[in-house]
Amino acid sequence: MDSIDVPIYKQSGRIGIDDALGELRRKERGGVLIQDGNRYRLLFAGDLLRARRAGVLNVQDVSGGEPVMVTTEEHAISHGLDLHEPHRTRRQFENILDYYNHSYTLPMPSQPSTTGTTTITKVVTRSEDLGQMLRMTGGYECTGEPKHFFPRPYVRAGDNCPRRPECSRADGSTPKVISSS
Ligand SMILES: [Zn+2]
Repeated sequence: MDSIDVPIYKQSGRIGIDDALGELRRKERGGVLIQDGNRYRLLFAGDLLRARRAGVLNVQDVSGGEPVMVTTEEHAISHGLDLHEPHRTRRQFENILDYYNHSYTLPMPSQPSTTGTTTITKVVTRSEDLGQMLRMTGGYECTGEPKHFFPRPYVRAGDNCPRRPECSRADGSTPKVISSS
């Protein structure tokens, strides 16, 4: 279990992918939350980079993403969650996410905070590893062809591309992971 603040954008808005990636680098985060009414999904920096390369301009036009479960007072009662201080009930959050087979949850009512043009809100992850992906600084890509984007999976700059042998380099060298710009 991990608890981490990530930028949140409304599906009805228009945020350029470049702006969102810049925000992720500044905030040292690896993903953004998209709100569409009472439905939420998580887009990783790798999803944004892949979409940008495919010609997509706005974050809201990036399809897919990881569904994020909403936990309410009702869940808090049935599973013993502390929605305001999730760290106090780590095991209970892991249990409910296991039970509903989700990796991420947004405790409600959420407590978003806005600085400048960016609003951030707290997301709870099922495992530490899942949290680590969100604590990355922006996104990464590989130096191979076809190019891969991260996270997911979790990578560090300098790693060999974990998607090999899908990608390769003309000179036969091993594709490496580098920070995207
Ligand atoms: Zn690759």
